[in-house]
Amino acid sequence: MDGVNWKTTMGLRARSGDGRLTGVGCALAVSAACLAAALPGRAAPIRNVILCIGDGMGPEQVEAARCYAGTNLFFDSFPYQTRITTFAAGGALTDSAAAATAIATGHKVDDGVISLAIPGDASELETLLEAFQKQGKASGLVTTSYLTDATPAAFGAHAPSRGEYAQIASNYLNRTRPEVLMGGGDSGMSADAAANAGYTVVTDAATLAAADASGGARVCGLFGSSSLPYEYDGLGDLPGITNMVPKALDILDSDPDGFFLMLEGGRIDHACHDNDLPRCIFETLAFDAAVKLVAAWAQGRGDTLILVLADHETGGLTVLKDNGAGHLPKVSWSTGGHTSTPVPLYGWGVNAGLVTQTVDNAEVRAIALSTALMPAVGVGVERFSPEVTRTRWAVSSGDVYRCEQTVTLQPAAWQPGGTVTADTTRVTFATTNAAAYPKSFFRLLSTQVGGK
Ligand SMILES: [Zn+2]
Repeated sequence: MDGVNWKTTMGLRARSGDGRLTGVGCALAVSAACLAAALPGRAAPIRNVILCIGDGMGPEQVEAARCYAGTNLFFDSFPYQTRITTFAAGGALTDSAAAATAIATGHKVDDGVISLAIPGDASELETLLEAFQKQGKASGLVTTSYLTDATPAAFGAHAPSRGEYAQIASNYLNRTRPEVLMGGGDSGMSADAAANAGYTVVTDAATLAAADASGGARVCGLFGSSSLPYEYDGLGDLPGITNMVPKALDILDSDPDGFFLMLEGGRIDHACHDNDLPRCIFETLAFDAAVKLVAAWAQGRGDTLILVLADHETGGLTVLKDNGAGHLPKVSWSTGGHTSTPVPLYGWGVNAGLVTQTVDNAEVRAIALSTALMPAVGVGVERFSPEVTRTRWAVSSGDVYRCEQTVTLQPAAWQPGGTVTADTTRVTFATTNAAAYPKSFFRLLSTQVGGK
């Protein structure tokens, strides 16, 4: 129950019209009574897992983008949020290779290492992409950096050094073979090699839009000869991250077993290395827009987990003054490198409740692979009337859940509190305020897998 205080750590700003939530881990006077929307219960195993990584996107990068947008970002509306540490095997600072390896494999490695046990016996560490492929799922890697850069590489390849582009490209094309590969070209990737490996190669926004997304399609987007241009500078004929997402989802969704997608906003980091605030903000906003597309696609499906996170913070950014919507905030930078600042982790959908119990990047893999289908702590508490208090949970299935209550969290002694049935995105548990019980905390557990 480490997550019960997450709200107080997130530092979100109150802005107009957003869906900010009010708290977690409710202390309420209880008696019985449960109320819920009625949809028929159904099994909802996790079909799709979508991991959205803002490279270098620390909490102040998000805050700077909020200031410029004049509102919370879309993913600020995700119901489960925490912050995670990012340290590597060698110390407090991490590079993208070690951080993405921790996320993909659950193991801390040295900087520069791509999903191998270094330090250790240098054996291959199974990545999330490989684990989901074993489950029969399709897979995809989409980035605004070049495709063989460290973050996508840690999911689709194994190499002792992030600079081993030829090995990383060969792993993609000949070994892990994700159905979707989209990002900047060169650095080991070539159109000929991708075509020879059975991929339909697309090289600009037009050919991407025209690409066949039907079952069995493998599409390799090689857009330009390095990272994609910054959003701030305009993309010309090349697709932006919001152009890549719909086609990637189309292709991946044709697999009846579902899919794993790693979506990276790869250039937030590049802008922050240059302490370039406008490009940092525009890249962060484009990444947020891409997450919004993903969530719109998944809305109401009840079978998808979306995690939004960063691999590390870049630049030591601090927002000093919000100058209003459409204006750059006043900021300071402390470095041209990475920092050890904990980074945000946001969750939406099946098992997103596990986010609140997460403190380190090496624990993200377990959330992505969990079959627990909850448990969840409440995401909102409201005094409905003097007699009734409601606790809300964000879920995304029609499952039936058991509600439990405990008087204290340390130690917790969970007692049955009734069942609730989810509508597509929410369940509500109402408790009367008559003092039949002392103040209590509530949680939600699936009656499906792991619910007993
Ligand atoms: Zn960097």
